[in-house]
Amino acid sequence: MTKAKIKCPTCEKEHVYDSTNPFRPFCSERCKMIDLGAWANEEYTIPESKAVSDFSSGVLEDNSESGTIPPTMH
Ligand SMILES: [Zn+2]
Repeated sequence: MTKAKIKCPTCEKEHVYDSTNPFRPFCSERCKMIDLGAWANEEYTIPESKAVSDFSSGVLEDNSESGTIPPTMH
């Protein structure tokens, strides 16, 4: 029986390629999840799309503190 050694794409640790390993080509579930999370983070890059509405410059100084809900007192 020949056991091929491959490198884990995540931690780059050499491990035996096991056909029964559900996480291959990763060495472990953790490394698989890390890899999945890595590309997920790239996908989730939130673009700064805050609409700066300065067409009505009158409301820029408006502190609506009076409209906030007062802290609950017991
Ligand atoms: Zn690994």
